[in-house]
Amino acid sequence: MTCTAKYWAVIPAAGIGHRMGASIPKQYLDLAGRPVIDWSLHLFLDHPRISGAVVSLDPKDDFWPRTAFAGDPRVRRAEGGAERCHSVLNALDLLSGGVDAADWVLVHDAARPCLRRDDLDRLLDTLSDHPVGGLLGVPVRDTMKQVGEDGRVRRTVPRTDLWHAFTPQMFRLGLLRKALRAALDKCSLVTDDASAVELMSLEPLLVEGHADNIKVTRPEDLALAAFYLRQQEPLC
Ligand code: C5P
Repeated sequence: MTCTAKYWAVIPAAGIGHRMGASIPKQYLDLAGRPVIDWSLHLFLDHPRISGAVVSLDPKDDFWPRTAFAGDPRVRRAEGGAERCHSVLNALDLLSGGVDAADWVLVHDAARPCLRRDDLDRLLDTLSDHPVGGLLGVPVRDTMKQVGEDGRVRRTVPRTDLWHAFTPQMFRLGLLRKALRAALDKCSLVTDDASAVELMSLEPLLVEGHADNIKVTRPEDLALAAFYLRQQEPLC
C-alpha cells in the first residue's frame, strides 16, 4: 500500500484575506512579478512525486483563470466554502471520486508562497511510512503571553513545547476526510487539518521546517515574502 500510494496537493484558496486590507484576495496579489498563488502551486507541480492538485476557489472567483496553472490538466477546481475547513473538505470530496483513500494529500495554504523544496522533501520522506501523518512547523521563539479582552496579560505561557503550525499538512485522504467531517459534525471549525486529526485522538508528527514559510496575512508580509524568495533563488 505504502509503495503505490500517490501524493496530491490540496490548495485552499477561497479566502478573502481581510487582514491584508487589499482590493483583491491576497492569493492574487503580485509577488515578485507573479500572483502569490503561482508561487504556492509551482513547487508541487514541479515535484516528481506529486501527481496533481486540487485548488478550492470561491465560486465567484474570476482571478484564477488569469494565473499560470489555471489551464494545467493536472489541476482541478473545487468549490470553496465558508471557512478553510469547508474548502479543504470540498477538495477532498472531489479527489475521492477517482483517488484511493490511502493516497496522501498535502494541504497547503495558497497564501504560503515561500515553501522550500527541501522542507517539502523532508516532509514527504519523514511521513511516507507514518501511521498518522503530520505537518511542517517551527518552534516558538518569543515569550508567549495569554491576554484578556481588556489587553491585560493574564499569564506567560511556557514556550518550551510550543510550535507554530505551518503547511503543508500531510495525511491519508481517507483519514483526513473522515476527521474533517467528524469535526464539522461537532461544529468545530478547525483552523488547520492537523486539528481535525487530533480530535480523533491521533497524534500527527511535527516536522521542523524553516521560518520563512510564512503565510501572507498583513500588508508588510508581501515585502518579506519577496525578500525570502530572492534569498531562496540560488537554492532552486
Ligand atoms: O484566512 P487564512 O489566512 O487563515 O487562510 C488560509 C488559507 O485558507 C488561504 O489560502 C485561504 O485562501 C484559504 N481559505 C479558504 N476558504 C476559506 C477561508 C480561507 O480556502 N473560506
